[in-house]
Amino acid sequence: MFRKILVANRGEIACRVMETARLMGVGTVAVYSDADRGAKHVAMADQAVHIGGPAPADSYLRMEVIIAAARATGAEAIHPGYGFLSENPEFVDMVQAAGLVFIGPSAAAIRAMGLKDAAKKLMEKAGVPVVPGYHGDNQDPEHLAGMAAEIGYPVLIKAVAGGGGKGMRRVDAAKGFAEALQSARSEAVKAFGNDAVLIEKYVQKPRHIEVQVFGDGQNAVHLFERDCSLQRRHQKVIEEAPAPGMTPEMRAAMGDAAVKAARAIGYAGAGTVEFIVDASVGLKPDRFWFMEMNTRLQVEHPVTEMITGVDLVDWQLRIAAGQALPMDQTGLEINGHAFEARLYAEDVPKGFLPATGTLDHLSFPAGVRVDSGVRQGDTISPWYDPMIAKLVVHAASRDVALLQLERALAETEVAGSVTNLGFLGALTRHKGFVAGEVDTDLIQRDLASLTVEPEPDHKIRAMAVLVAMELVERADWQTGFSLWQPLCQTIILTYEDAEFTADVIHMGGGYHRIMLGETLVEARHHKGGLTLNGDRAPGYIRQRDKISIFADHGFHFRVIDVLDRAGGQSGDGNVIAAPMPGLVKSIHVAPGDKVAAGDRLAVLEAMKMEHALTAQRDGVVAEVLANAGSQVEAGAALIRLEDETGDAA
Ligand code: ADP
Ligand code: ADP
Ligand code: MG
Repeated sequence: MFRKILVANRGEIACRVMETARLMGVGTVAVYSDADRGAKHVAMADQAVHIGGPAPADSYLRMEVIIAAARATGAEAIHPGYGFLSENPEFVDMVQAAGLVFIGPSAAAIRAMGLKDAAKKLMEKAGVPVVPGYHGDNQDPEHLAGMAAEIGYPVLIKAVAGGGGKGMRRVDAAKGFAEALQSARSEAVKAFGNDAVLIEKYVQKPRHIEVQVFGDGQNAVHLFERDCSLQRRHQKVIEEAPAPGMTPEMRAAMGDAAVKAARAIGYAGAGTVEFIVDASVGLKPDRFWFMEMNTRLQVEHPVTEMITGVDLVDWQLRIAAGQALPMDQTGLEINGHAFEARLYAEDVPKGFLPATGTLDHLSFPAGVRVDSGVRQGDTISPWYDPMIAKLVVHAASRDVALLQLERALAETEVAGSVTNLGFLGALTRHKGFVAGEVDTDLIQRDLASLTVEPEPDHKIRAMAVLVAMELVERADWQTGFSLWQPLCQTIILTYEDAEFTADVIHMGGGYHRIMLGETLVEARHHKGGLTLNGDRAPGYIRQRDKISIFADHGFHFRVIDVLDRAGGQSGDGNVIAAPMPGLVKSIHVAPGDKVAAGDRLAVLEAMKMEHALTAQRDGVVAEVLANAGSQVEAGAALIRLEDETGDAA
């Protein structure tokens, strides 16, 4: 076994690989870009080497620099993770030329599977069923259109060099073909520098079922299937193993085909053979076809680990070190059911836009496997994939595992960035998914209902109000008053940029009445904690003016800073108004005075604090409308400036 390996990746997969290396007693070297100086994978490694700027091309894709780092640190082998250099045969050649071991398949195996057209030809020869279609060399648009017509619409145009769903277009009728071809090609050139395409029959009621394989160059086994049909734009969202509705015949047929594929290229290491399945009449052994082989560890590998008990990274290291497969096919069996959900920093209402931010709070429930490359306080930068974590659950049966996933998502707390947590939660409750009736169009078909944003109810809002007033940890408002008479305060919060006002009446003895318009919420402190209308209060976190309440996958509020508002009130900037009810302590200007933006004009005492009311622009005081010592209502005009033009009203 190696004494030390270098992990040429970042984020959760780098951490995942290092965890197993540590368990095996193998030393680890991390590499990192400028953006990842303080990253978790750097902290986890025994040693770390800086390799350049934040853009992948300036760091994680710099082959010479990474190989030099391995040599300088005495690492004997390089694990590429997934993405980046993991399927780059040129890198494999360079690693070997430097006298190091690449933890993965041979360059020849990667080349054989690198282009989808060549891989399909190879698989056809090996007797593996491939999706009917055209994968020849003639790239003339007329010819391709003819082939599409022959195959029969709908068809899929795929970039032969494609990956991650790029360069792929579904075409439903002949008249859309030319345009789709054009756009698939231009996307493919941009992403892969290769505009060649193939045409495939678009499979009906498609399910994506893939088989995990492992080879040692001599033998190959499979570790059963994963169902990755829950996809959005051809990107996996939730994966599971085994596939729901799988029959022993179909599993045997798919396993055989996958092992055949691996044997055909003398495969060594971990790989995944992806199949597309026509599930229009259930799972039938003659209705699955090879799509592509991913010659690396896959993002969703943990579900296979959960049902087989095999540590796939452990096997990768052993095989790269020259050992034989640790188990033969008869030793492998399926135990229970597992799901993985990919938690991302993304803005679901804005079309799943990748988001960035500092994770002010990050917490996961116990009893769930969390593969993550970030910790609380870490930043999701714009440079890389915005994945926060993979949540993985395992139970004896599918229904229980899915309930566990639902609960794990509900108890996951993230503040500091928007996430797809609510969307994942909605998926775990989707009737078709619960019933195991999955296909790759499920998400798109029901997107509207899966992305409904829940509104915070009055109890959630009341909780945010109590957090804002610091009345959660502390039972009562600290006042010099005796509490025989209730004390009332008003506070303004925003949710999704909409303001709402709450009046809080302190009844004393840890009892508060929160009025949200006409709705009353009663909050009581007990020995057992805080309750809202009798229900246990949800968890929360406050970071300056940001408040997150952890219910329904999280609601995020802001406390309106009354000081900011005092200056920034009323649209025209002429009127300085009381931001809340209070006592005018002092007035500092008189009509005719010249003032500058930011000058203190008056002081209001409210909520046991003094608030300076400032001018938001330069100007001249036209009128003073209140006296020191007077009690005023929220919104009451206190001072008016002359119009900007200079002519007083
Ligand atoms: P598929 O390639 O079939 O989508 P996966 O679900 O395993 O299979 O996706 C892996 C792909 O996702 C990689 O090939 C890579 O392009 C991309 N990817 C996701 N996260 C990362 C990451 N942290 N670093 C690099 N690539 C990533
Ligand atoms: P990539 O390299 O981008 O992962 P794949 O060939 O693996 O490309 O296809 C990605 C996804 O597109 C699949 O998981 C599946 O959802 C869908 N898909 C691919 N081929 C077909 C097909 N022939 N019919 C229907 N859906 C398909
Ligand atoms: Mg794929």
